[in-house]
Amino acid sequence: MRKFQFRCSECGAAYREDEVRLVCPACARQQKPGGVTRGVLEVVLEELPSTWPSAPPSSAEFLSAFLPISSPESLPPLAVGGTPLLEVPELRRALGLRRLWVKDDTRNPSGSTKDRASLLVLAKAKEYACETVAAASTGNAATALAAIAAASGIRAVVFVPASVPEAKLVQMLSYGALVLPVDGTYDDAFELCLAACEEFGWYNRNTALNPFTIEGKKTAAIEIAADLAPEIPDAVLIPTGDGVILAGLAKGFADLERCGLIKRLPRLIAVQPEGSAAIVNALGKGADTITPVPGAASVADSLTVQAPRNALQCLRSIRASGGGGVTVSDKAIIKAVAELARQTGVFAEPAGAAPLAGLQAALDKGLVDRDERVVLLITGTGLKDIPAASRAVQKPSPIPLRIEAVAKRLQHLSKG
Ligand SMILES: [Zn+2]
Repeated sequence: MRKFQFRCSECGAAYREDEVRLVCPACARQQKPGGVTRGVLEVVLEELPSTWPSAPPSSAEFLSAFLPISSPESLPPLAVGGTPLLEVPELRRALGLRRLWVKDDTRNPSGSTKDRASLLVLAKAKEYACETVAAASTGNAATALAAIAAASGIRAVVFVPASVPEAKLVQMLSYGALVLPVDGTYDDAFELCLAACEEFGWYNRNTALNPFTIEGKKTAAIEIAADLAPEIPDAVLIPTGDGVILAGLAKGFADLERCGLIKRLPRLIAVQPEGSAAIVNALGKGADTITPVPGAASVADSLTVQAPRNALQCLRSIRASGGGGVTVSDKAIIKAVAELARQTGVFAEPAGAAPLAGLQAALDKGLVDRDERVVLLITGTGLKDIPAASRAVQKPSPIPLRIEAVAKRLQHLSKG
């Protein structure tokens, strides 16, 4: 039994697990509909390991050493995490960064970092004997919930914008989730999911509202630190929508610092699309909270959000790490999808490739130095959004079945 408490990230109040399930009841009184989530809870484990576990990172033994679960048997039977930290020699050469790594989280079971959050939420759903878990999502969180619920024998209900990319929709339907496309934005889906969970008594996996979404994502930071030990990354670039992945990584590094497995925190750098940049805008203004971006839009659908739900904790995490934020254009994101694929062999969706676009901006702003140890977190596979990736490539016309035609095409390409 791994003992823990919840601590409110706003007011610092502590709660036992049997007292609350989602947010701090005191701070939740200030909640505005559609606004940032108030009273986001952090998990504070009583004990953490003092040495790196010898078991592989995606094993129950490794995960249960760092996660707030009663026993390793609570974990759903899917191998989540344990993704590679790639050395990317071609990309290093192209950018002139000798110590650059790519954390390839496209390799999770449903193809995104969101599986890390869903793994822990479903483990807790099993401990709490919940029959249905619901979530609102731009696509990946819903798919991750659907996948891991399928493996766990728990019903998943997901609310997504009707504009969700086709591949994500087909994926979540294939896993057997009850999919409710809403005639509205992700922010609208979030509110409807909240109301439905209250009405029908479902366990809510909405990002940040459920504290285990943040705690689950911390495993990405723990793996990065374990792979680089005894070195520590100087900066980690993280695609940022609601701010939960960033806060999750911050929690992971903070836990490791607390138990002495790392001696300092890496700087965390949020990468947001220009059309959906509430958190980076707030950083620029020195503000403690965000101003929502009505009509937020980007080719990176996973990062498109008007009012980032975990903005408050995300802003605090970035500042505590000494990090910062950058915005990137849709054009730069699409270019990064192709460059990442060509120079590393990792095919990412637009949100996943955004950190590569953000790296240039971070170098230009002086947030990252070329001599530093830099990690790009690549969060989702390119197979989730083929129409976006197809904007960065040219589809060749078919050739006749003759060797002369091959020679002619080669000649043509060498001229081009
Ligand atoms: Zn509170």
